[in-house]
Amino acid sequence: MSGSPDTELTVRQQIVQVLTGARCSARDLAHRLRISERQVEEHLAHIAKSVGRDRHGRFLLEASACEECGYAFRGRTRLTRPSRCPRCRSEAISSPRFGIESSKP
Ligand SMILES: [Zn+2]
Repeated sequence: MSGSPDTELTVRQQIVQVLTGARCSARDLAHRLRISERQVEEHLAHIAKSVGRDRHGRFLLEASACEECGYAFRGRTRLTRPSRCPRCRSEAISSPRFGIESSKP
């Protein structure tokens, strides 16, 4: 199946569509759109910027947290998952989740 790119949504548009009104991790998106998590993260970086320029939208980033001690990686702006908890050294870190809030009617 080759499909014509003119009539299909771009991957980026699909991500925006999925994230509007929902929260997903990069893994969820990768699975859904059949691309790698790395690709999802690249698209998200661009989407975060373009949503930031749109006064009707807001890009939401739900911070990662340690599943062992509850340490929250607040203020962390990177889109990727931290590998280790700085407090208890656990590697059980939840993935950050993303969403887009739109105030458009
Ligand atoms: Zn911890």
